[in-house]
Amino acid sequence: MNKIIGQVNGQESPRYAGLTTFARLPRREDVENFDIAVVGIPFDAGVTFRPGARFGPSAIREASRLLRPYNPALENRPFSDSQVVDAGDIDCNPFDIPKALSQIEAGLAELMSNGAPVVSLGGDHTIALPALRAAHREHGPLALVHFDAHLDTWDTYFEMPYTHGSPFRRASEEGLIRKDRSVHVGVRGSLYDEKDLIDDKELGFTIVSCRDFDRIGVDGILERVLERVGDTPLYVSVDIDVLDPAHAPGTGTPEAGGMTSRELLAVVRGLRHNKIVAADIVEVAPAYDHAAITSVAAANLAYEFISIMAGQQKTRPPRSK
Ligand code: MN
Ligand code: MN
Repeated sequence: MNKIIGQVNGQESPRYAGLTTFARLPRREDVENFDIAVVGIPFDAGVTFRPGARFGPSAIREASRLLRPYNPALENRPFSDSQVVDAGDIDCNPFDIPKALSQIEAGLAELMSNGAPVVSLGGDHTIALPALRAAHREHGPLALVHFDAHLDTWDTYFEMPYTHGSPFRRASEEGLIRKDRSVHVGVRGSLYDEKDLIDDKELGFTIVSCRDFDRIGVDGILERVLERVGDTPLYVSVDIDVLDPAHAPGTGTPEAGGMTSRELLAVVRGLRHNKIVAADIVEVAPAYDHAAITSVAAANLAYEFISIMAGQQKTRPPRSK
């Protein structure tokens, strides 16, 4: 097996120096094989309110310079246990949404071939649909944990079927996700109609709302989520607006009354015994951010996903380039 190349040494080169890759990890082209890939998907043509998530990947990478090699919460060294790489950005058409979806699916399918887990940095939530298509090709129907203030199971906007408000309706219709194994976490805010909830249930989702945190806390929430997803291969999608605007102001459709970043990290860590085949972190829109609050949260979340995936890598043969 090839020697693992980890982060640029922060004791030799200050962490604010040098070219930016996620967590100062090697680029994909710098190593022979990789176990886990981080990839940017700078696409935001599917938004319904504030645009700007196309700048998410570069802002998250910049914020990830601070990440260190040892994860004390999970007691592992993700960048030494596994070869983690920054696979750059997937080029996708900013004007033609169906074309962009197929480009994103192809790019992710190539990275995921041979079962390698991938963390995608969006981009708006539209990208979850091609990501689920790619993961489904490799792993079959998936359990889904979807962190979001919003349901994202609406049908169309201005008669358009592919937007950031509809990826999970399409995913359910296409059979990409298990109707008995999918859950939204952190839902809150106003809806168009009570029917939104009825439709959502028919599409196969249960809801853990933000108000539930006050009642049953992180442990109670986790119990419900883990029971729902079981041991089915899991896709985790995080819309950063699941966090309260105090914890993530830099996003397109903020809603009051959200999770803290501490709660979100705790729930994500609670998924560490599940087989997470892919994850995304979407809707980071740096133009509305302050002092990188939102991109720091996103970078730390990506680190937790990578740490969980690295803990699950030991049994998998290395993937070739
Ligand atoms: Mn949302
Ligand atoms: Mn969303």
